[in-house]
Amino acid sequence: SIPLGYFGGIGLASKNGILFKGSNFLDVMTRVNTIVMDKTGTLTKGVFEVQQVVSNDFDEKELILMAAAIESKSTHPIALAIVNYAGDILKDVKIENVEEISGHGLKGSVNHKVVLAGNTKLLQQFGVAYDAAIEQEADTIVVIAIDGRYVGYLTIADEIKADAKQAIADMHRLNIQTVMLSGDKQTVVNKVATLLGIDKAFGNLLPEDKVAKVEALKKEGKHLAFVGDGVNDAPVVALADAGIAMGGLGSDATIETADIVIQNDQPSKIVTAIKIGKLTRNIVW
Ligand code: ADP
Ligand code: MG
Repeated sequence: SIPLGYFGGIGLASKNGILFKGSNFLDVMTRVNTIVMDKTGTLTKGVFEVQQVVSNDFDEKELILMAAAIESKSTHPIALAIVNYAGDILKDVKIENVEEISGHGLKGSVNHKVVLAGNTKLLQQFGVAYDAAIEQEADTIVVIAIDGRYVGYLTIADEIKADAKQAIADMHRLNIQTVMLSGDKQTVVNKVATLLGIDKAFGNLLPEDKVAKVEALKKEGKHLAFVGDGVNDAPVVALADAGIAMGGLGSDATIETADIVIQNDQPSKIVTAIKIGKLTRNIVW
């Protein structure tokens, strides 16, 4: 039978906006010594804004139109920022066959032209040449190619969540190692990791690379929690000893797979969950 203390722990967690899907995860959280986190939507707000439009000898309005047209078929946070920025310009635009290329971006047809919108890996994949200097941009970039020609890019930025830095410091005080995994480019990942004081940060990861990183940490014998929000995060959430989903921004698949759901998306609740686990253990034993 389940000791009474566990019910108390689950109830206390629930009052704090933390949903435990089983009492065993209270115990699992007390043993966690490594917390692996996704960047976008987990440590940052996941709400991007377009900062700059840089055209490569191409009409700027047309660049924005093509980018917004193709991104209008995606639900990625990056896509929402671009569509929002473009405003109401997509009437009478013919958008067809848009496919999402995981970890890379989008390919599709706009007004019968082939449009690519994504990171530089996407352009490499399709053999489109671009100015190598754009890799040095500090922000995330969405590069656009039309009919095989690089026409420019948009820079977009996201904000770090208000409690993220304190949450990381609290994890370190509990002797927990912190790791950040992201599909975003390494320069952006390093900037966020430095601001937050995260121990290890890896960028440019495809969904399968995130799985491989978590598998490697498990092989090292780490007791790990993974915290994510995106649909790509579901496999890693499933793999971790404690899989945690951000409930507000999180995709249905990730929330479904998670052992623990943080309803208001605050990273500090990860620490609260550990503290409630420890408190519950002290009552039970
Ligand atoms: P993460 O949530 O860790 O940022 P994703 O796999 O969702 O990882 O995205 C990885 C990268 O792929 C993004 O940083 C971006 O460069 C590119 N990307 C994904 N979707 C889009 C999109 N709709 N438009 C442009 N770029 C995209
Ligand atoms: Mg994400």
